[in-house]
Amino acid sequence: MRELIAITVYIAIAVMSSVAIIASPTLGAQADTDKIGVVVSIPPLAQFVENVGGERVKVTALLPPGKEPHTFSLTPRDLKKINEAFLFVVNGAKLEFWMDRVAEVNPGIIVVDTSQGVELIDDDPHIWLSPRNARLQVKNILQALIQLDPEYQDYYQHNAHRYLQKLDGLDRSIEISLQGIKVKKFIIFHPALTYFARDYNLEQITVEVGGKSPKAKDIKRAIDEARKHNIKVIFAEPQFDPHSAEVIASEIGGEVVFIDPLAQNYLENMYTILGILVDTMD
Ligand SMILES: [Zn+2]
Repeated sequence: MRELIAITVYIAIAVMSSVAIIASPTLGAQADTDKIGVVVSIPPLAQFVENVGGERVKVTALLPPGKEPHTFSLTPRDLKKINEAFLFVVNGAKLEFWMDRVAEVNPGIIVVDTSQGVELIDDDPHIWLSPRNARLQVKNILQALIQLDPEYQDYYQHNAHRYLQKLDGLDRSIEISLQGIKVKKFIIFHPALTYFARDYNLEQITVEVGGKSPKAKDIKRAIDEARKHNIKVIFAEPQFDPHSAEVIASEIGGEVVFIDPLAQNYLENMYTILGILVDTMD
């Protein structure tokens, strides 16, 4: 990949002006034997990139299992991964609040902002948890790979098409599965399902407000909502301290159920989350 330095420096100008994707240089003949080194910020993006890039990419995720992205800080190991990568695929929507560091470590890295074209809700970054947004994210990854490696355009398009069909299948499953549910409300500790709720006409009631640890009044509000709508489940994420969720659950005689928004096996995980939602909403 050493030959690529000239290209990456050239592209850096476009990256710094935070264009989603960028420039026209190609990877050249060298890349026929080398895989494209891709770093992604959160694990679900690894599945997106691997499904589009196939044999052409080597993907590494920065965020390890169990860590939450909102307070994440880059370790020396992460910086090394960034330094060695050619492409950096980010969620965008301000989830990667540490992007300045990336530019310092590898000014030439090409950044693909997968949130381009997604209709954002305030400053909520959890876009990937609605498959309708995931579609756009996958398409942005596809466009980036085609621009960088146009010789393989047909390959990338074919791969992307196959994965987008799976996302469509997930989308339809969610619509159908939620049809029979009467009280379309759920309570969750952290607002991970904001976009999911928007796209499938559910109401997400969060315990946490504005990313801060809940105060007594937030816990009381959640308890009141649960009683009013006869909700018996509080969703929590393995990345957060479940204490407040447990307090609420014991007050309402309900239970805490964990969902993981960051599992790398995105499709399987979304079906799991759907199953849990259907089982716990009436
Ligand atoms: Zn989150």
